[in-house]
Amino acid sequence: MIATVIVELALDREFDYTIPDGMPIEVGMLVEVPFGRQTKRGYVVGLKETSTFKKLKSIGKLVSDKALIQPEIMELARWMADYYITPFEQVIKTVLPSAVRGKDARFKEVYFVVPTPKASDEAAAAQLRKTAPKQAAALDVLIASGTLPMAELARAAGTTSAAIRTLEEKGMVEITLEPMGRDPLAGMNFLKDKPLTLTAEQGSALKIIQQSIDTLDPSVVLLFGVTGSGKTEVYLQAIQEILEQGKGAIVLVPEIALTPQTVRRFRSRFGNDIGVLHSHLSDGERHDEWHRIADGEVRIVVGARSALFAPVKDLALIVVDEEHDGSYKQDEAPRYQARDIAVMRGHMHKCAVVLGTATPSVESYHNTLINKFACANLSCRVDDREMPMVHVVDMRNESVLQGGPSVFSGDLRTAIQDRLDRQEQVMLLLNRRGYATSLICPKCGHVEECHHCSVSMTYHRKRNEMACHICGDLRKVPSCCPNSACRTPHFKFSGLGTEKIEGMLHGMFPRAVIRRMDSDTMTRKGSYEKVLGEFRTGKIDILVGTQMIAKGLHFPNVTLVGVIYADTTLHMPDFRAGERTFQLITQVSGRAGRGDIAGEVIIQTYTPSHPSIQSARTLDYDGFFDEELAFRKSLHYPPFSRLVCITIRGPQEALVAFTAEQFHKALEKEVDASSVMMSTAVPAPIARMKGQFRYQIMLRAPHPRRMSQPIRKALAGFTWPPKVKCTVDVDAVSLM
Ligand code: ADP
Ligand code: ZN
Repeated sequence: MIATVIVELALDREFDYTIPDGMPIEVGMLVEVPFGRQTKRGYVVGLKETSTFKKLKSIGKLVSDKALIQPEIMELARWMADYYITPFEQVIKTVLPSAVRGKDARFKEVYFVVPTPKASDEAAAAQLRKTAPKQAAALDVLIASGTLPMAELARAAGTTSAAIRTLEEKGMVEITLEPMGRDPLAGMNFLKDKPLTLTAEQGSALKIIQQSIDTLDPSVVLLFGVTGSGKTEVYLQAIQEILEQGKGAIVLVPEIALTPQTVRRFRSRFGNDIGVLHSHLSDGERHDEWHRIADGEVRIVVGARSALFAPVKDLALIVVDEEHDGSYKQDEAPRYQARDIAVMRGHMHKCAVVLGTATPSVESYHNTLINKFACANLSCRVDDREMPMVHVVDMRNESVLQGGPSVFSGDLRTAIQDRLDRQEQVMLLLNRRGYATSLICPKCGHVEECHHCSVSMTYHRKRNEMACHICGDLRKVPSCCPNSACRTPHFKFSGLGTEKIEGMLHGMFPRAVIRRMDSDTMTRKGSYEKVLGEFRTGKIDILVGTQMIAKGLHFPNVTLVGVIYADTTLHMPDFRAGERTFQLITQVSGRAGRGDIAGEVIIQTYTPSHPSIQSARTLDYDGFFDEELAFRKSLHYPPFSRLVCITIRGPQEALVAFTAEQFHKALEKEVDASSVMMSTAVPAPIARMKGQFRYQIMLRAPHPRRMSQPIRKALAGFTWPPKVKCTVDVDAVSLM
């Protein structure tokens, strides 16, 4: 037998090796192979009878004693490498966490203490009690509880590990070094809860999902349920049944929604059957969690994007919660969309897939209309709670009323005061952090820009600094206008950020407790949990934040949600701007009125008649969808085409422009112009980022293969000048 091996070298090639007699090789194992004069690590990606090469070397040794990549994950990885035009090895690195494949990957080992038969010898124990009471105490605890980790035994008996070592010398205990699972949730207490009695709508949704789980050729189910309609309860009960059948499930949630609140709901229902994978895990925790899953100790995995590749045994269901969420798309190679790959994994391995959301992506909803996906609807909130009342405030009128541009409309101010008086809570959304968006010279109009990116710097007052929100560069505020012909000593701040809103609120409502939640204030591990905890217990009256506060949170005492400036996402040069605005407003509105008191939402905007804002106001998904779909169709945007965005970047603008043009010509030779629409090479909307000039070529076609084959060919025949780099983004989400 011959094994094909991918060597850890970033070469996009597979090499053949013979297998030494008796070596139990399986696809997916990590091995050591001779490579040139060196020894390298690699993964066995295939087995075959013969090789076209004559002289083959043989595999050195096994590094893992079991396959680290399941055959089904291997198949999926191959598909992804092809679809996303990415080297196979890079995909392998994505599906297998570095904490598992790395050189230092091992279980954490701790000392365990076991009593020997001599420990129960009465005479010896009596002797010990007289001469060494601490050792005697340790022995008593140990006999009462059996084997214990050394540290725990010492703590429980009020003694030291030295005393326990002495017991070992006396032959009364044995000390061994053994692996210990690191459970990231250890120490959290959970009250066990029971399944709720489902509403009629939840019941029929569950039935549709169960049918899908039970058939041999399951279809994808879009669980389209308004905010607060109890989608999570439906997932929980579907998973319950899967556990009873002895099978496994994966639940994907956006990273930001992976709060203790979400985890607790799953933990309370399923206890230790749950594994959690998110980015705050240490490498050790991730390693141990992965092996608990691979060994079948854990059958349900909750996690962010990459949890999709968890080695769950007998996978029967994948849930993608908040399927519309942008964070499911990875922004580095392989640039995969986890929702789409979930559908693919389900399709390849015949397991059910549920996509849940209150605001389906245009692509997914379209798939239900053309019968590619099944649909289950939850049109009401549980307990007949009402959907919030949504008002739109036209800020153009407001500036007339208040005699100048204003940040808070009269309506919003009154409504906030009202809630404070009634001791209810308020959430305010502004999808832009910082204090002012830019510093403008009032005389010459100079705007301070980042030296490395073509965006203006954002003023942060607390730090008295300007920050670039793309590369993170920081700069002191200049003492006068940097324009040498001007040098005016005063700068004007223009635009709004969350920091400024927070400051204004303190001025307007001095007695209220106000907290801000954005990526500037949430830098420390645990700060997110802390603020949410304080908000839940009512210590905070007003929570101001970016989109971070819009997702999946459930606070029954929030009765008012305000959107300060709904237009932030609307005017981006991106065909999905309208969709994102609709989703963001609807999601944040959904935080209002989840308890016994009805909720109210106030949306402030300068473009009140925009369809995305109007549909969000009337909670009219279909209205939004029809309009959006017509627009997508007229311009051949997804879902009526697949889209590939090629970005070419480098430090010298002229060279980047020239290379982009050359590559465009190379593409023209390969692409079939009758079925592929291709743009010319043009500067990207953010023309410079981190010191790199950027050009884009956009391709659209009904089928992705129409583009990937020609792109692959063009790439293979193209020589890139030094320092000019190219990235290919299939099904691109960010077009900036
Ligand atoms: P969604 O995810 O659709 O926004 P959630 O799953 O967060 O909604 O549910 C909202 C609230 O309703 C939660 O507190 C949940 O415990 C509760 N809930 C869900 N289903 C039921 C039910 N059948 N009976 C009573 N309460 C329910
Ligand atoms: Zn920058």
